[in-house]
Amino acid sequence: AIQIENLSKWYESFRALTDVNLTIAYGERIVICGPSGSGKSTLIRCINQLEVHQKGRLVVNGVTLVPGMKGLSAIRRDVGMVFQHFNLFPHLTVLDNCTLALRRVRKLDRREAEAVAHANLERVRIPEQADKYPSQLSGGQQQRVAIARALCMKPKVMLFDEPTSALDPEMINEVLDVMTLLAQDGMTMVCVTHEMGFARKVADRIVFMDQGQIVEQAPPSEFFTNPKHERAKLFLKQIL
Ligand code: ATP
Ligand code: MG
Repeated sequence: AIQIENLSKWYESFRALTDVNLTIAYGERIVICGPSGSGKSTLIRCINQLEVHQKGRLVVNGVTLVPGMKGLSAIRRDVGMVFQHFNLFPHLTVLDNCTLALRRVRKLDRREAEAVAHANLERVRIPEQADKYPSQLSGGQQQRVAIARALCMKPKVMLFDEPTSALDPEMINEVLDVMTLLAQDGMTMVCVTHEMGFARKVADRIVFMDQGQIVEQAPPSEFFTNPKHERAKLFLKQIL
């Protein structure tokens, strides 16, 4: 689904990613972790070209991403993204948040778009909130709407950037539960998260980053019990 070869990215003169190599197959669930500033967000934002890279090769769903390329919206259509701060449209209802891209990008008519939206609101377990505005929902509910909105586009890959870190503790699990269901459905997922219980349970592979590089990659059973790299050991000691 995703091939990343020697990817490097600079912000001005600051090098945020250095020669990152990562291959992700369809159906795989990857958790990316690492200290603040290690380049986790930058890496997943490069995958849907919210950030452009300067060096290396990035192939997503068979398309080689070239900085400044045309047809980005076609690529983003197949790559759903969920952010820490939900990023819902506040002036639109839950239903309209979900149908907007279906109507504008996929060109469905209202009835078709609403049917897809309702199905995905069921999937994230909030069909009853369809007519509310985001401000009328809890954080956990808003994040589930954001997930439903992304799913409406039938993405081949879902990217999550710390989807639970802005939530109160009691709402974290309702979002992780929905993500776990998605994983069970076979969705290809790349998740930046510090929820190590989720990582242990759901991830096929943990990718540990530090200072713009992938320092270690391993299945959770291996990474959590026997991290090889000193920086990974230190990181785990701090968060577990
Ligand atoms: P966190 O856990 O805090 O979210 P992260 O691993 O996601 O961190 P990034 O946001 O990818 O880290 O940032 C990597 C580095 O790039 C950091 O040093 C950050 O300050 C820098 N950086 C990120 N975005 C920009 C930007 N738009 N302009 C300049 N520097 C940036
Ligand atoms: Mg980040």
